[in-house]
Amino acid sequence: MLHSKININRLEKNLKDLSAVGKNDKGGIDRALGSEADREARKWLMAYWDKNLELPVKTDAIANMWVERAGIEGIAPIVIGSHHDTVPNGGMYDGALGVLLATELVQILEENNVTTRHPIAIVSFTGEEPNPFNVSTLGSRVVSGRVGKEELLGIKNIEDGTTLKDCIEKIGGDLEKIQDALIKTGDISAFIECHIEQGRRLVDANQAVASVNCIIGIYRENITIIGDANHAGTTVMRDRQDALLGACELNLAFEKILKDLESDEVVGTIGYLSVFPNAANIIPGEVELVLEIRTCEPQIKEDIVRKLSIEAEKIMKNRGVKIIRKVNLDQREMPMDETVMKAINKGIESIGEPVRELVSMAGHDAANMQRVTQSGMIFVQSIDGKSHCPTEKTHIKDIEKVGNAMLEALLILDRELD
Ligand SMILES: [Zn+2]
Repeated sequence: MLHSKININRLEKNLKDLSAVGKNDKGGIDRALGSEADREARKWLMAYWDKNLELPVKTDAIANMWVERAGIEGIAPIVIGSHHDTVPNGGMYDGALGVLLATELVQILEENNVTTRHPIAIVSFTGEEPNPFNVSTLGSRVVSGRVGKEELLGIKNIEDGTTLKDCIEKIGGDLEKIQDALIKTGDISAFIECHIEQGRRLVDANQAVASVNCIIGIYRENITIIGDANHAGTTVMRDRQDALLGACELNLAFEKILKDLESDEVVGTIGYLSVFPNAANIIPGEVELVLEIRTCEPQIKEDIVRKLSIEAEKIMKNRGVKIIRKVNLDQREMPMDETVMKAINKGIESIGEPVRELVSMAGHDAANMQRVTQSGMIFVQSIDGKSHCPTEKTHIKDIEKVGNAMLEALLILDRELD
């Protein structure tokens, strides 16, 4: 059924050209929300769309950029896209590939005079990556109604104290009008996001592409361990209540619980620790830490938490420390839509690749979009599983594969959806 194929040379050039925006001297890309490079990337995209698609760009109140190619029926658009911001010193594929591939798909439809029943819209979301405003997947979070105006107006940059309101204004949005950006059920027929895998599962299986069946749930606890700060010289070993050793033991017990599950789709991390008073000659009296669990199965998460409680009890008893736990995030997993997944799987079959379904271990805009429209994701292999670093890379032949698979999936959805 495939009538046209993507122009891989053009897509490769666009990836390279956009990667120059925000390039630093370490070879990475700094394109954080609201930065000069964010503004420049927006200008680059708008100029490209204007010149090559001759379609108007609509910037919504949270500064997401939308471009829409008309369909022949009066039905809601199918949206494709991702984000153009990067982590500090990030790579050139995370986000940008999804936006530029969406652009390529619309361009190839246009060049081949392919009419679609649905309008096909490209989106580049605002501020997907974590940033100093402490809010990730910002653009899709706002349009899906997960965060309201009052909350947004209160958000400040934790590094320099500037407001999110000013930041969004600088990139073309307006928090006062945030209500207008909301997507209601029925406004969009479907959403597909192409993204690099950012893990090793595809490279280890020697596969190029996969569809995503679920975006991981994230659970976090703030844990405080209270011991007894005392002189590091005069307190004998048996008299100590060392809060940091309690934290170390808890972390190792947590690792064992996770490893015993023998699953590549459940992970956990203690990535933040703060030690008080944090002095060389004082026994640590208190430790604050953040513990995180990622899984698509709530039952497994409950199980880990239960086992962790047993271990925490043991540590408290054996070390004489106190462990206080508080849940600070319990973001549920987001299964992707069956219809969109099926179309993506057929797209993958159409290019002669094996169908593979993966859990996305990272959060994505598609998780928010699934709340307002049927959504799916297509992953492409990351060389060595690397991402969020300058060496993040994907083989160009794999980009060609994912592009043609996504084109086919898009055309299937266009035929099948109302
Ligand atoms: Zn991304």
